Amino acid sequence: MTVHVGVDLGGTNVKCAVVEIDAGSEPRVLATASEPTRSQQGPEAVLMRVARLAEATAAPFDPPQAVGLGLPGHFDAERGTGVILPNLAGDWVGRPIAGPVAERLGLPVLLVNDARALTLAELRLGAGRGARTMVCVTLGTGVGGGVVIDGRLHLGTGEAGEIGHTIVEPDGPVCGCGNRGCLDRVAGAGAIAARAGCATVEDAIAAARSGDLRARAALEHAARAVGIALGGATVLLWPDRIVVGGGVAEAGELLLAPLRREIATRARVYPIDALTIASAELGPVAGAIGAALWSHEAPDTDLRPRPLAHRGSDGAGDLL
Ligand SMILES: [Zn+2]
Repeated sequence: MTVHVGVDLGGTNVKCAVVEIDAGSEPRVLATASEPTRSQQGPEAVLMRVARLAEATAAPFDPPQAVGLGLPGHFDAERGTGVILPNLAGDWVGRPIAGPVAERLGLPVLLVNDARALTLAELRLGAGRGARTMVCVTLGTGVGGGVVIDGRLHLGTGEAGEIGHTIVEPDGPVCGCGNRGCLDRVAGAGAIAARAGCATVEDAIAAARSGDLRARAALEHAARAVGIALGGATVLLWPDRIVVGGGVAEAGELLLAPLRREIATRARVYPIDALTIASAELGPVAGAIGAALWSHEAPDTDLRPRPLAHRGSDGAGDLL
């Protein structure tokens, strides 16, 4: 039995989960916590906040083996540095992220993309349980994703799962990645809200629920775009499970019904009855749980930044 800590560093909140992992049984979430990110205070303050939250949340339990740190964007896994983190204020490009947290905690820190972390959490403890081949899509401010092959999170040569930057409208709006018509720009929260004539996507979902036709059409438009991308993923990977998470997925069947229709329409050569399409189950703490699981499952253990401090052999009470 080992204890792992996961931290999900988001633009608004830092969430933490402590997970117990025992060979042969399902991982168990021992505790969760959350606090505001306050990224305007700068990277250094944010990273110390991450370390303190991990420390405090894990304190009542056995000393952890490792920490997984979920990030809202791209990073250099080998160097443990930031690459593109647009939702965090301040300059994160090239900045050491894993190192300072590892040093403070005296534990290995593994970085993972937040959508990939959510995918892993849903695979082990949520709507993806038992899946062999799975595609996960997270619909929020941006559109993220993750891929599971043979029951394991699949990263390819680094960042597999970037379904948000697959093309659904070849001449569509310019995306932050430099391409045109990425799913991210068509089905992100801002695009849905704008199309619905609402201030936020939450307002758009509420309006759609109360029968507003424009809001319903906006959700349906987004669902069709997601369905086009997932239809392509389906014929490419032949998954047995698709999991849809993120704040926009709160729309429930208003989103899922047209999404299922579109996948069935697009994935013609695939036996659609073999596919289960489900909403994510673990809620906002999924990313933190997945980050903890990643610190256990990550294959490149020799890439983990080495901790500088060491815990005494008695361990108790002096986690960090
Ligand atoms: Zn893009």
